[in-house]
Formats: sequence, structure tokens, C-alpha cells
Amino acid sequence: FLPHTTGIKIKFAKTLSLSDTKISSNVQTDLDIRKDKDNAVRAMEMDMEILRSKKGCRYTIKSDIDGHLQYLELIKEPVVNAKGEIQGIVGLINDITEKTMLEKKLHELSTVDQLTKLLNRSAGTAEIENCIRTASSENCFAIIDIDKFKYVNDTYGHDCGDKVLINVAEKLKGTVRGNDVVFRWGGEEMLILLAVDGEIAEQVAQRCRKAVEASEVVYNGQTVKVTITIGGCSYVTGLDQERMISKADENLYQGKSNGKNQVVF
Ligand code: GH3
Ligand code: MG
Ligand code: MG
Repeated sequence: FLPHTTGIKIKFAKTLSLSDTKISSNVQTDLDIRKDKDNAVRAMEMDMEILRSKKGCRYTIKSDIDGHLQYLELIKEPVVNAKGEIQGIVGLINDITEKTMLEKKLHELSTVDQLTKLLNRSAGTAEIENCIRTASSENCFAIIDIDKFKYVNDTYGHDCGDKVLINVAEKLKGTVRGNDVVFRWGGEEMLILLAVDGEIAEQVAQRCRKAVEASEVVYNGQTVKVTITIGGCSYVTGLDQERMISKADENLYQGKSNGKNQVVF
């Protein structure tokens, strides 16, 4: 009830003209007791809103106290007397940790490629659409295709191929900046969405190419090295996703016919 569970202190009570509420100044509030101060403040704000609007509310919080992670749903309703005055607030707390974790896992499974941990194609498509919608010329795509990847699978086995894919994904992610996004586009093709203009994008693509070229995967005691070819495309006003991608694809194809291990923009 008011003094304790809502965390309302005298100064708040006064602001709300709750002069007849029996609140003592030495009562401990959520803010004094709880270690997760953000949630205590939130609780207090929500309670204030209930007092103001005289309406109940429902919200969820993430609580992480000493490494104990919990997702909680709070349902609160005001208790109003015959005169329409709020006497207190009743609340229910549901532990929704398991349900929330499951939802997060499902979301991850639908957007993240489980082998490389890059975003998958459907997440990538949505991201590119969004990028085109809000586009400026400072946007580029780069399609990456591993050179002679079939040879890796055929020579060292599919598991080794998987390790190579993971390594390439890591090198790409490690080379681009935080606001650039790397996707697994399918098979041994990856795509980078770069928030820079064409000239810089080409430099970033070269750095990606060199990072992969300089790296190696050790599989069953054998050192496996691969290279990548990159086809890029700068944002062109009016072009839709499909045509942008096919432009980058044409450049990729040109890089492959010119001898691979190169960047074509
Ligand atoms: P190029 O240099 O012209 O790109 O030739 P490539 O051998 O890389 O191209 P190709 O398209 O012939 O081979 C791609 C191979 O990638 C074929 C396919 O089996 C393999 N692949 C696709 N997805 C995966 C995967 O998840 N794991 C592994 N290990 N291999 C994959
Ligand atoms: Mg390919
Ligand atoms: Mg290939």
C-alpha cells in the first residue's frame, strides 16, 4: 500500500496533495530497499501515474540483481473509495522469465543464422528494405562469395567448410564498423550493408578481403586458407532492393571472371 509498496515519499505525497495519507518520513521505500534503482524509479513513476489518472496499468521489467535475471510483469490497480479517492494500489507480479527467454530464443532462431551467428537472409532483407526507404547516397552493399569453396568441402569435408564459413563471418564482422551489418545471404555468400559512401565502402571491402586472405583455419592438423571476391554497389536513388542486389551481383561475377580474390564496385 501507499507508503511502502509504492515507494512514494512525503515529498511526492505532498505534490499529490495526499496530506491525509499516513506516511511517515522514516518508512523505507522501494528506492531505499531495491538494488535495481532503475526499476524502483519506474515503479514509483507508474504508481504516480495511477494516482494521477486513477487508472490501472500493466508493464514489464527486466530485473538483474547480482546476476539473477528475471523478467516480471506487473499489473497494478488503484483501490478507490466511495468518494472516488484512491486508498491504495493493489498489484500482482507475474514471473514471465521463462516465457520471455523462449520468445527471445524464437526471435533469435528466426533472425540469426545458427552456423555463423550472422543475421540471416530474411533479417537482412528487412534491414535492406529499411535502409532503402530511409536512404541517402551514404549506403552501399557488398556481396561476398568465398572463392573455390566447393574445393574446400570436397577436399577437407563439410565440417571443415563450416569452420571456414564461421571464420570468414568473424573476419567480416571484425573488419566493419558497429553500424554496418553483415548477413549470411545463403550458402557461402554473405552481404554487408555499409553506412558509408562508395569510395569508403570499397576501402572497407578491400580490408575485408585482406583480412580473410591473411587468416587461416586449422582443421585436423591441416591449415586451410581461402580468399573471397566482393561485388559492391552504391545506393542509387530509385533502385529497388532486387536491382541493387543484382548490380552488386554483376560486379561479383566480373570479379570472379577476372581471377577472383578481388573487389569490384
Ligand atoms: P567460386 O570460386 O566460383 O565461388 O566457386 P565455389 O566453389 O565457391 O562455388 P560453388 O557455388 O560451386 O560452391 C559453393 C559450395 O558451398 C557448394 C555448397 O555445397 C557449399 N555450401 C553452401 N552452404 C554450405 C554450408 O553451410 N556449409 C558448407 N560446408 N558448405 C556449404
Ligand atoms: Mg556462391
Ligand atoms: Mg564461391
